[in-house]
Amino acid sequence: ITDKIAGLPQDAHYFSLEFFPPKTQMGSANLQARLERMVHSLRPLFVTVTWGAGGTTAAKSLELAEICQRQLQLTTCLHLTCTNMNRRLIDEALEEAKALGIRNILALRGDPPRSEEYNIDGSDDSNKDFTWAVDLVRYIRRVHGDYFCLGVAAYPEGHPGDSFHEHQDPAYDLPYLVEKTKAGADFIMTQLTYDLEAYKKFEAALRNHESGVFKTIPIIPGLMPIQSYNILTRVTKLCHTKIPPPILSRIEQVKANDEAVKKVGVDIVAEIVNGIKGIPSPGPRGFHFYTLNLEKAVSFVLECCDLIPPLTEESDDEFDTEVAITMS
Ligand code: FAD
Repeated sequence: ITDKIAGLPQDAHYFSLEFFPPKTQMGSANLQARLERMVHSLRPLFVTVTWGAGGTTAAKSLELAEICQRQLQLTTCLHLTCTNMNRRLIDEALEEAKALGIRNILALRGDPPRSEEYNIDGSDDSNKDFTWAVDLVRYIRRVHGDYFCLGVAAYPEGHPGDSFHEHQDPAYDLPYLVEKTKAGADFIMTQLTYDLEAYKKFEAALRNHESGVFKTIPIIPGLMPIQSYNILTRVTKLCHTKIPPPILSRIEQVKANDEAVKKVGVDIVAEIVNGIKGIPSPGPRGFHFYTLNLEKAVSFVLECCDLIPPLTEESDDEFDTEVAITMS
């Protein structure tokens, strides 16, 4: 990912798309068809594939990552959580990722370790090696050197903390983000946000941090295209992301009409993208979109923000060959 970013012109914009592994065969087939269309028409710099906390989706995440990396020849980033997983599962996931040609991992903690929250006596030893995301970053660097390009998560509105220690303040997370970055992170990807001012403040705090570790590292803001009022309120609640009142009121005015919500939502997300484009960046400026495996809303946002790279002859040829292979 960082090699591809470095290969872009300094003032370029790029974007990535996140997908999660569907639960059913039918869902997988539908997603594969949608992915083929999206890859061809949208041309993301890379895609990411989520990982169910505790390894619950390990096989399906790897299957989807294989489709992205091998069949669609997309630069693919596999999310990997480290808590409530034993080391063998982490080793297997990394080896399998390597075998599939995947060079990018988003190193995450996942749910709070059970031994921290519920198993204070330490009788469950599955978390002995990994308590925080930084433990995974250190482990991957120790075992795999520089083979993987590593991303880490950050929270412009603050991580909500856990039930045994609640907080939601970006300043609280900052020393730990410094630690993760120093341990070997190559890029930072954020939780979704609709609060442009909070995002600007967050990025400025990183860029100006006294440690200097965030001076040039790619910081990729996470944005979620708005699909419907229900999805918006459900996901933001889950992620502890605030919807600023002026944005909520624009959505609430049309909330019963999904098509109208989508339309207003495109304007809202496009305004945030354009606002972020205005922040001076030490390198090409990226955006990460939480697609929820859906195609339309993200396509409209990308089009509206002029983020879709032009089609080159080379990418057209590659697509034709890949589709021919997939269809055969
Ligand atoms: P950490 O960096 O370990 O931080 C977790 C919390 O602990 C923060 O509050 C931090 O301030 C604090 N902390 C960190 N280190 C220390 C320390 N040494 N001492 C005390 N406190 C500390 N979850 C999934 O299950 N699957 C996914 O695919 C997934 N993808 C994600 C993608 C992105 C871009 C983001 C932003 C999140 C994703 N998550 C995913 C959610 C993530 O796993 C949770 O938010 C998790 O609770 C925290 O993960 P982290 O990697 O940020 O953890």
